[in-house]
Amino acid sequence: AKFVYDFTEGNKDLKDLLGGKGANLAEMTNLGLPVPPGFTITTEACKTYLDSGEEPAALRDEVSAHLDALEVTMGKKLGQADDPLLVSVRSGAKFSMPGMMDTVLNIGLSDKSVQGLAKQAGDDRFAWDSYRRLIQMFGKTVLGVDGDLFEEALEAAKTAKKVAVDTELEAADLKKLVTKFKKIVKTEAGRDFPQDPREQMDLAIKAVFESWNGERAKLYRRQERIPHDLGTAVNVCSMVFGNLGPDSGTGVAFTRDPASGHQGVYGDYLQNAQGEDVVAGIRNTVALADLEQIDKKSYDQLMQIMETLENHYLDLCDIEFTIERGQLWMLQTRVGKRTAGAAFRIATQLVDQGLIDEAEALQRVTGAQLAQLMFPRFDDEAKVEKVGRGIAASPGAAVGKAVFDSYTAVKWSRSGEKVILVRRETNPDDLDGMIAAEGILTSRGGKTSHAAVVARGMGKTCVCGAEELEVDTKRRRMTVPGGHVVEEGDVISIDGSSGKVYLGEVPVVPSPVVEYFEGRMHAGAEDADELVEAVHRIMAFADRKRRLRVRANADNAEDALRARRFGAQGIGLCRTEHMFLGDRRELVERLILADTEAVREESLKELLPLQKQDFVQLFESMDGLPVTVRLLDPPLHEFLPDITELSVRVALAESRQEPHENELRLLQAVHRLHEQNPMLGLRGVRLGLVIPGLFTMQVRAIAEAAAERKAAKGDPRAEIMIPLVGTVQELEIVREEADQVIAEVEAATGAKLKLSIGTMIELPRAALTAGQIAEAAEFFSFGTNDLTQTVWGFSRDDVEASFFTAYLEKGIFGVSPFETIDKDGVGSLVAAAAKAGRATRPDLKLGVCGEHGGDPESVHFFHEVGLDYVSCSPFRIPVARLEAGRAAS
Ligand code: PEP
Ligand code: MG
Repeated sequence: AKFVYDFTEGNKDLKDLLGGKGANLAEMTNLGLPVPPGFTITTEACKTYLDSGEEPAALRDEVSAHLDALEVTMGKKLGQADDPLLVSVRSGAKFSMPGMMDTVLNIGLSDKSVQGLAKQAGDDRFAWDSYRRLIQMFGKTVLGVDGDLFEEALEAAKTAKKVAVDTELEAADLKKLVTKFKKIVKTEAGRDFPQDPREQMDLAIKAVFESWNGERAKLYRRQERIPHDLGTAVNVCSMVFGNLGPDSGTGVAFTRDPASGHQGVYGDYLQNAQGEDVVAGIRNTVALADLEQIDKKSYDQLMQIMETLENHYLDLCDIEFTIERGQLWMLQTRVGKRTAGAAFRIATQLVDQGLIDEAEALQRVTGAQLAQLMFPRFDDEAKVEKVGRGIAASPGAAVGKAVFDSYTAVKWSRSGEKVILVRRETNPDDLDGMIAAEGILTSRGGKTSHAAVVARGMGKTCVCGAEELEVDTKRRRMTVPGGHVVEEGDVISIDGSSGKVYLGEVPVVPSPVVEYFEGRMHAGAEDADELVEAVHRIMAFADRKRRLRVRANADNAEDALRARRFGAQGIGLCRTEHMFLGDRRELVERLILADTEAVREESLKELLPLQKQDFVQLFESMDGLPVTVRLLDPPLHEFLPDITELSVRVALAESRQEPHENELRLLQAVHRLHEQNPMLGLRGVRLGLVIPGLFTMQVRAIAEAAAERKAAKGDPRAEIMIPLVGTVQELEIVREEADQVIAEVEAATGAKLKLSIGTMIELPRAALTAGQIAEAAEFFSFGTNDLTQTVWGFSRDDVEASFFTAYLEKGIFGVSPFETIDKDGVGSLVAAAAKAGRATRPDLKLGVCGEHGGDPESVHFFHEVGLDYVSCSPFRIPVARLEAGRAAS
């Protein structure tokens, strides 16, 4: 295998091998853009190193050959004493992991070559500053020295000199600092800072490989669901300097606004600064537009390049660049992260510009982004005190208690508190605090600061650079203009869409996207905003493309009507046990505990009209669309009195010698029916088979309701679904009784009802014998909640709270199988059962109604295995429609 690629050899499609950064540097190089020469070491080399602990044998020679070539191109040698070639060694994985892995700049500087650099640059200060940065970065990331030690030494130097910022330190001060830094390295790492430039480079490469498995990186990957086995590439790039004086600088640019999607000049620029200074939010940047005044030539060239990149990538690009003494260099580009709203707008803008088609537009947005747009927002009208305004870095409305460090954020959120993490600026060590918080507020840094970039990636609300706020992390408080002090634990609200910060809790209002789906805001109307317009169009693209139909899980008319407004094409699951809660619970309790036929029949008789009325309403709200009614499937314990409570009552009555015969009888019955594993006990079809008349009462209610709707000129399309079937025999018995009841109702009403009868496939045995079960079923609906529970042997009510965190941390799975379908296990049963069912009955209708029906990744899977529909909760219907469209395009 080839382990090293020159920038001229790669291209943007080699992200697996060269990482995102390497692939795009190669692409820009080949577009003729000004990229400093360099080469990329592949992810394969990294994987080999991480697996075996050793670099692949051929790597050293390949690196040597590429370094030689680079030295020829640049006309100088790495670390050459009189005129050193310096390089950066940067990580770059397939997926962007901002700030999570290591980077070392200025490699090639040593006690000797620092002099050569000073002479060549004509700037002693610059050379010694570069050298101290190298020792600092190298010491921290390669040699594992505590970074604070360097920071403290730097602070001490500033204090000694009585200056406020680094740039006021002079060459002589920095030279002394270098000596101090080298001592720190020697003491802490037990070795000298290496003077051999090649040794520096090789050690840095290894450190980058290893940073793939750093704790921060692992945590980030889990959060972002990035696989752990990809490895990182390493980019070795000749250095250009943004810190050579006022005609130099470094910046970040976007071809469109990553928050709104509008085209324009967006970004930040920092004069006389190097590398990470911009992203780290250490000094305050100026707007990119100001670069035109500072350096018109570079600005014009940058604008030209941005246009080239957009037309080439056909998408929003973000860019890192450096200007070295008036010469512009491109250090990175990639298809940029953006807010959910911007994703929808950009996709439609690009369609309008004729750059992409509808199918491609669907690939530019995700169901997760749509879900994010459906969150509520702050009420603008609310009477609350605005105390500051920062940059709207990542949209959303977050309310919580102010905390000033990550540790507290995690601790408080674990105990159920909602918190806002308030920091002067964040760095990668704050990651777990950011995950735990509802939102993030910083007083420094721009749209490209660490806080902003990471929050956007996580879809978390963030306001950054709120400079009027004085954040004092040591004393855990922040002072707002006017002098009011927010202490740890005080509630604040932040609006990531406007950048506003409020004291106290701001009430929230529904999102315009939800208003649109609800039909309260119309696309095309004059006051509809751009976002609603874009969502409307993307949904139309998705509906045109998708093959899967989308139904709702709903058991009352209100939910059904909402689902219909959201685009549901029927009800895929009406859980009838939900109709028996509240007042009716007692009736069901009586039915279940009935010890005489008379009591049982009486309770059934009372339930019948109530059920029928439920169904009439439901069929009316879904007129003309299928409604799948599932017969009763209660976990029995939910309908019975609590056994402990009842025992206490009986014991008390006994000790007081009060009459308690009824309680005692009840207690005995509850004991009789008590189950250790109610989920695997008397539920579903089993209950229907042992309580005579229960299922037939429900079937009668459905049939009579359908007949009533027909008589009222409605178009009811009921489907009767039998839960928890494990064998075709169960289904056959229920079916026979049901058919008879339906025939009776038809005869009595003269209506032709055309009710279909089908089953859930939610037990492994049902899936394994699907071919037989299809003999007695006109449709299957996969109950992936129970199927996941029984295939894994995971109690669905218990495991997420008990050991799932450990499983996720160990990487056994990246996401709960109750959330995203486990394709290899549960999914393969679904696929096989679908196939076997259709082999028996080619027109068998297939759907899914477990929670997975509204999960983006799972929807793609159900599309692939050929189901006819997915069914999910009303609020997830738009997401399912969109993902079904994406799956088909
Ligand atoms: C299922 O098991 O997936 C299902 C939809 O049924 P319930 O969640 O009601 O058990
Ligand atoms: Mg179930």
